[in-house]
Amino acid sequence: MKKKFVLSLLAAGAMVVSLAGCAGGASSGTSSSGAAAAGDGSLIGVAMPTKSSERWIADGDNIKKQLEAAGYTVDLEYAEDDIPTQVSQIENMITKGAKALIIASIDGTTLTNTLQNAKDNNIPVIAYDRLIRNSPNVDYYATFDNEKVGVQQATSLLTGLGVLDATGNKTGKKGPFNVELFAGSPDDNNATFFFNGAMETLKPYIADGTIVVKSGQTDFNTVATLRWDPATAQARMENILTSTYSDGSKVNGVLSPYDGLSRGIISALTSAGYTTADIPIITGQDAELDSVKAINAGEQYSTIYKDTRELAKVAVGMATALLTGGTPETNDTKTYDNGVKVVPSQLLQPVVVTKDNIQSVLIDGGYYTAAQVNG
Ligand code: BGC
Repeated sequence: MKKKFVLSLLAAGAMVVSLAGCAGGASSGTSSSGAAAAGDGSLIGVAMPTKSSERWIADGDNIKKQLEAAGYTVDLEYAEDDIPTQVSQIENMITKGAKALIIASIDGTTLTNTLQNAKDNNIPVIAYDRLIRNSPNVDYYATFDNEKVGVQQATSLLTGLGVLDATGNKTGKKGPFNVELFAGSPDDNNATFFFNGAMETLKPYIADGTIVVKSGQTDFNTVATLRWDPATAQARMENILTSTYSDGSKVNGVLSPYDGLSRGIISALTSAGYTTADIPIITGQDAELDSVKAINAGEQYSTIYKDTRELAKVAVGMATALLTGGTPETNDTKTYDNGVKVVPSQLLQPVVVTKDNIQSVLIDGGYYTAAQVNG
């Protein structure tokens, strides 16, 4: 028994090295010969929040594909943004004998008991993209630099408005520009990081009057969007248009943290009569296909691209390392305090995409084909 474990450990160790080798690269290749031996068929549970957003489908598919290539069996579950469903899916994974869990939580604060159960069964837990809070039993965190996402969203908003030039220098343009603010789900740790990063960037321009939040709605709880629901953002934008802009004034910019919300916001604006000629500068995140098309069509200004293939690679590398006695690679051991401990993290770098670099980043990078984007 012990000997077999050591042997599979050695085989798996080779796999970790090969996975770690490609984690930072541009290639999306995942498998390596002999990889099938590493996983030894053991089960890994992968819990994703919802299929209602394209990015999570891509994340789940990429993780599953990469784990299977490494010889693992995968239980991939989606919870349609329902917290009790996600809890019971993870409990089932534990019951089925999962050897590791990779979890993108719906509400990062509701998994404390479930993760205690995982710990009691010696199952390591990797928080995927979203930090799981209030638990000592989160071993590692695979994500992007979330504060930087917010900085990039705000910076691209300023660029779109013409306040900054392409190199990030001030143009001298002082507006004033009417900007409305949206944030993500308050129970998602990332939402605060995005909003704080964005507000740090926007604050000086709000302070000097270049940017005016005409609705007056600037605090996180007021602008947050529960469950990242596009319809909620659309309704809030409609309300703001009625309450604040019925005097004929125009919205010039919208800080939106996620493409789905941006599409809801665009619907509210176009229903109120905005056209591509006067639609505000609107940001986003995830480079979802419909939003990339909206950027091409001049309805949305920017999105933040986070390559789900690369994030999957990091999480799979972490799981493999943990199961084979290795140490997962991390590059941040101070930012992500989950309320109980600082979770060692591996942060990837997000990329701003506008109409100008859809081709070079998304198409040349193999994330979408030209036919998908132009179809
Ligand atoms: C992710 C974003 C995503 C949002 C809504 C966040 O936790 O980091 O990429 O846009 O959830 O799904």
